[in-house]
Amino acid sequence: MDPALLDLTAGACRRLIEERFPDDDHHGAAAMLLRDGTILTGTSPNAINPSVEVCHEIEPYCAAYRLDQSVVASVCLHRQPGGRFVVLSPCGVCRERLAVHGPAVLVAVADPNDPSVIVWKTLKDVLPDYWMTAFPDEVDPAWSA
Ligand SMILES: [Zn+2]
Repeated sequence: MDPALLDLTAGACRRLIEERFPDDDHHGAAAMLLRDGTILTGTSPNAINPSVEVCHEIEPYCAAYRLDQSVVASVCLHRQPGGRFVVLSPCGVCRERLAVHGPAVLVAVADPNDPSVIVWKTLKDVLPDYWMTAFPDEVDPAWSA
């Protein structure tokens, strides 16, 4: 994976937050790099009932499907008041969603010593005991490798 493409993906995520949310409040967004090099971004609306809100990853995830493209990398960032961006690793549900794109998908996680620093890991690294490995005939063999 070209690190410059990963940097561009994270930059697109930061730029969306800065452009869509020029205030100094808490806001987040996600970006995904597709197999063809396209970078998609997205964010999620607030809802009166927080239980119906969705992850920032949903918009680029669904758009990748619409475009019939594989996701090769995903990043979610959260900007705190004051302008610091921290990395939000994909939640368990998003890990499950990304699993359809295979264990090699790169996901951004926070550096344990500085959550503003991205560490890229494979989906397999962050989803080590993927349940579908119980059905080896139905899943990418790389999950069990
Ligand atoms: Zn999620």
